[in-house]
Parts: sequence; structure tokens; C-alpha cells
Amino acid sequence: MELLLAEIPSLHHDEDARVLRDCVDKKALTSSIYKLLTFAGTRCPVQAQFWSAKAPHKVRLFGWLVAKDRVHSKANLLKKHMRSEDVCELCHKESETTNHLLFDCCRVAALWPALGVSQPLCCRSIWDAKPASPTADGCWSTVLLLLLWRIWNHRH
Ligand SMILES: [Zn+2]
Repeated sequence: MELLLAEIPSLHHDEDARVLRDCVDKKALTSSIYKLLTFAGTRCPVQAQFWSAKAPHKVRLFGWLVAKDRVHSKANLLKKHMRSEDVCELCHKESETTNHLLFDCCRVAALWPALGVSQPLCCRSIWDAKPASPTADGCWSTVLLLLLWRIWNHRH
């Protein structure tokens, strides 16, 4: 035990003080204060995929809900006790999760390979998917968002 305690660096006897990150000699730099004031919180790593897409705001917002798995799928509503069952209305086989209704249901599963997007897909991995045709690369995020929006509106 004494060997373990000996390896722990000694603590300073100075009084505790609040110090901003990125400060020099305990003085705040203007740049660190600016970063603090303009920090928008923890960012979703794929947010640029849908927020920068050339689609109506409601469609981009839907993309954010998909990325966070916050879509009002039957499974999500069941978790919130807002539904009594979560069976998919189209295939009547599986739970209607966000992944099921957008990627796995037999009614939409054939769409993604036809576009050249590799399987398996899910709410999180779809934003990393690339189409088979490089010509669609420049507008892929917009196409993807509009496809997801169209599937959602077809089902609900
Ligand atoms: Zn289904």
C-alpha cells in the first residue's frame, strides 16, 4: 500500500481556483473567452450531413430526428407508453423501430441496394453510406434526406 501511495504525485497546497481552459499564467485569453461564448454544446458527428442539405427545414429536422433515433416510430411510442403495440403495419411481422421502417422492412429493403448503398443500414450508419454512382456524390445528403422523408410520409 505504501508503494502505491508513493507513486501518487503529491497535491499542491495552493488554494483551489477556477481557471479557464486555454489560459496562460492563469489569465484568460480573449480567444478562450470567445470559444466559451460561441460554444454550441456537444455536436452530433453527422449533423453536417443533414443540416447542410438543400432540403426544406422540416426535412432537415427529420434527418436530425433519424440520426438521434427520436422519430415517432411505433417502438419509440411504445417506450413512452403512448401505444399499446408496435407491430409494423406494412409487413405485420416485426416491431416498427426507426431502423425497421426506414431500412429493414420488406417494403423498403430493396430500395437501398438498388441505389448501390451497402447493407446493413441503420439510423447511425446511413449518414456514412455512399451511393454507387459518384455523380450523385455532391448531392447525396439531400437525396438521402428526401428519400427518408418520402419513406416516412408514405408510411404515416
Ligand atoms: Zn415492416
